[in-house]
Amino acid sequence: MKTNDNNLGICPVCGKGQIIEGTNKYNCIRVAGIENKSITVADICTFSFFKSYFDHELTSAEVRKLIETGKTDEITDLKRKDGTKFSAKLELDKENKVIKPVFPEKSIEYLNEKCPCCGGKVRITSKYFICENAIGEEKTCSFLIQKIIAKKELTKNIVEILIKKRKTDFIGGFKNSKDEDFETRLVLEISTEERKANITFNSIVSMCPKCKKGIIIAGTKAYGCNNYKNEEIKCDFTIWKKINGRTINPSEVWKLCENGQTEILDGFKTKDGKKYSGKLVLVDDFKAKVI
Ligand SMILES: [Zn+2]
Ligand SMILES: [Zn+2]
Ligand SMILES: [Zn+2]
Repeated sequence: MKTNDNNLGICPVCGKGQIIEGTNKYNCIRVAGIENKSITVADICTFSFFKSYFDHELTSAEVRKLIETGKTDEITDLKRKDGTKFSAKLELDKENKVIKPVFPEKSIEYLNEKCPCCGGKVRITSKYFICENAIGEEKTCSFLIQKIIAKKELTKNIVEILIKKRKTDFIGGFKNSKDEDFETRLVLEISTEERKANITFNSIVSMCPKCKKGIIIAGTKAYGCNNYKNEEIKCDFTIWKKINGRTINPSEVWKLCENGQTEILDGFKTKDGKKYSGKLVLVDDFKAKVI
C-alpha cells in the first residue's frame, strides 16, 4: 500500500482505501482506481465528501475524527443558506454515503403530574403542555394546555396545581383584548371521553354583601357585583382595585365581604406619599374605607 503524507485514515465505507484530499472533496483512494489500475468496477469505492459543509471548512482534525468515528465533535459556526448560524455534529450516514448534520438532542422535560385523561407523561414543549400520547401518528389522547393564555405564560408550577386540584388560586398578569391586566382563577375541565382539556376563567371572589343575591367578580379596575345590570336589583357594590395607593387582592376583598373588615394591611399611602397601615372596613352603604 502506498504511504501518504496526508494520511487522513481508512475509508469508513469500504474499509480498504485511504482517504485523500482532492480539490473540492476528500475521496476514497479507490474512487478512481488510483490505488490499483487493474481493479474491477465492483471494487471501486464511490465514497467522497466535501471539504466544506454549511460554510464551514473542515479542519484536518475534524476530517480525521469523522473518518475514524463516523462523526465530528460539535461544530458551532455552521451557517444555513439564509445566513443563520447553528451548531451540530457532522455525521456520516454510511448507508447513503453522505455527511449530514445531527443536532444535539434536547432533553425532554415533563411535568411532575401525569395526564389527567390517560395517565401518560405530560411533556413541556415550546408551545404546549401536552400528553406524550397526544404526540405522533397514533394518538390515543388529546390532552394539551396552551402555554400562553390571555397573554400570560403559564409556569410548570401553575399547570401542576391545575392538574392536581383542577383549579388555581387567583393569579395575576393576564391581559384582556384591551390589554388591561386582570387576575383570575384557572379552572381545568376534563372530558374523559374525548380525553381533552378545557381551561376556563373563574373570577368569582365572594357573595355580594350588599344585595346578598349577586356575586362579586374581579374586573380589571374594580371588584363589582354581577347584579349591577339587573334592572330589579341594580346593585352598585364596588371595591376599587387600588385604594389609597395600595392594590387590594381578591382574598382581601373576600374577607371584607364576608366579615365586613380585613386584617390590618400595610402599604397604604397618604396624598403626600407617607406610608401607613390600616384595616379596610365596609361603612355606610357598603363603601370601603381604610381606618
Ligand atoms: Zn472507500
Ligand atoms: Zn393523555
Ligand atoms: Zn350586589
